[in-house]
Amino acid sequence: MTVTLNPPYPVTPIDPSEHGTNNGEDHRCVCGEQGEPFLVADRSGRLVDVRGGTTQLPGLSPWPTKPEVLVIHENCGRVYDDIDLARTDGISPILARIDITTPAWDTAVAMYYAAAEAGARVLHGEED
Ligand SMILES: [Zn+2]
Repeated sequence: MTVTLNPPYPVTPIDPSEHGTNNGEDHRCVCGEQGEPFLVADRSGRLVDVRGGTTQLPGLSPWPTKPEVLVIHENCGRVYDDIDLARTDGISPILARIDITTPAWDTAVAMYYAAAEAGARVLHGEED
């Protein structure tokens, strides 16, 4: 099955033969890193506001109503379907690769972490 994904950020070409690997517990990205950090994106590939709720920081998508999300490996920009990270055949296809060197991506990641930090403050009752 061919999956076409055009994330709302600049992308870089992917090698169709490459894929992540997993053993049901740990996922190893093509870049060699295992596990985190993965950023959460909606099905279009746009980063989500991890706080959930009805308002989002600029440029972020609402938290998806469906549980299925995409994940983007922060170190290299490769995009995976979260479901594929637990596939029993151990293979995680790559849907796209974000060009992590662009200002557009830097801005999106900064917003993502700003939302995460704001959410953490709320969780810990330190909102001012
Ligand atoms: Zn990676």
